Amino acid sequence: MSVTIRLLLFVALVGIVSGKHEEYIGWKSYYVELKSQTQLKTLRTLTSKYEIDALVHPILDREGILIVKPEHQKAFEQEAKAEEIAYRIHVDDIKRHLDHDDRILQKHRRKSMNRSGGRRLPYDSYQEIEVINDYLDYIGETYPNVAKVVDAANSFEGRPIKYVKISTTNFEDESKPIIYIDGGMHGRERISPPPVTWAIHKLVENVTEKDLLERFDWILLPVANPDGYQFTFTTNRLWRKSCSNDQHLLSTVCLGVDLNRNFDFYWNTAGTSDSPCSDTYAGSKPFSEVEARVVRDILHENVHRMAMYVSFHSFGSMILYPWGSGHLPPNAVELREVATVIAEEINKHSIPDFPRYFVGNSALMIGNEVSGDAEDYAYNLGVPLAFTIKLPYPKVTSSLEGYLLDPMYIGQVCRETWEGLIVGARKAGDLFKDKNN
Ligand SMILES: [Zn+2]
Repeated sequence: MSVTIRLLLFVALVGIVSGKHEEYIGWKSYYVELKSQTQLKTLRTLTSKYEIDALVHPILDREGILIVKPEHQKAFEQEAKAEEIAYRIHVDDIKRHLDHDDRILQKHRRKSMNRSGGRRLPYDSYQEIEVINDYLDYIGETYPNVAKVVDAANSFEGRPIKYVKISTTNFEDESKPIIYIDGGMHGRERISPPPVTWAIHKLVENVTEKDLLERFDWILLPVANPDGYQFTFTTNRLWRKSCSNDQHLLSTVCLGVDLNRNFDFYWNTAGTSDSPCSDTYAGSKPFSEVEARVVRDILHENVHRMAMYVSFHSFGSMILYPWGSGHLPPNAVELREVATVIAEEINKHSIPDFPRYFVGNSALMIGNEVSGDAEDYAYNLGVPLAFTIKLPYPKVTSSLEGYLLDPMYIGQVCRETWEGLIVGARKAGDLFKDKNN
């Protein structure tokens, strides 16, 4: 090997080891404010034209935050100006902020561990997948009378996909309605698993609402997409999809499928992409992904007594209900009623830093139709209440500490979301009883 080649190899290796978040040098995020339906539509066009990503979904009368790549920033700004869409810079170099996030997280994890006597708790910090799985195993081993851990399948990269079944009657009482909650379907949405593990904690380790255990059986899947989730720690902080190579010719170059577009309900008809390089790639066929199949199988196995399905995502402080096409389903009034009860309860327990929760149909609210998503699939299968909850992002971040939700907010998100789930479950239980009597 020549000296030059060896030198090049060395440089490349050092680059890989030391250069974290390099791909986000010069990326910017913008606050964007929309004043009309026309602007909402225009933004949808700009989003696909300039490969724009939403950190916080802008909706009418509420500012959102959009991520724009360096090569599109100038054109995006020009067009936004021409369309009179108000924008201002949120952060001007995302890489720098992601580096800072890493430092904050290290510090936060140490503090969290000190607080809990050396334990690494999945609802108290952003933890890697092994820590979350260890916690689930611990729950199953320590509380075998109420909690059973299911190793549903292995992810594409071979990680166990685990969920917990919680029941005081060993899931044998067929008259009990089931509440099913998942998180972590999109890798980068690290705030979505903690409210699920917090729910486990509140149903098993620290029970303050006994009725929720007596009335319901629970299925809790904290990380639906373990590969994508772990990928955000090792390789790419803003990774959204799974990590599979699904036999598409380009899939070895551009990994992964958007799991929340991979379900077999009007699959790949709206809000998706055919390109494996896109963040909303729907896959080569419905349920091409083992991770989506796990969610599907839970739904099929339990739909006959499932009262409510909740899927956590981020960010936006909103509760969304079907259909992804923007059409309203038969029990839209009921969906809206339960979503509102949950939202109001969360708002009551929230903090001034967070915006108030809004409630609405997923497509009408965000201005984006989607297809092949889990919420629609569950609802179509027969789960009477199916919601996507987009967790909060702080309103004003002038002193901007953490970029992707400072870990200091995790506890607050868990607590306030749980309050919403308590009233939501009770309401869902009442409606389910009425229907089955
Ligand atoms: Zn998501």
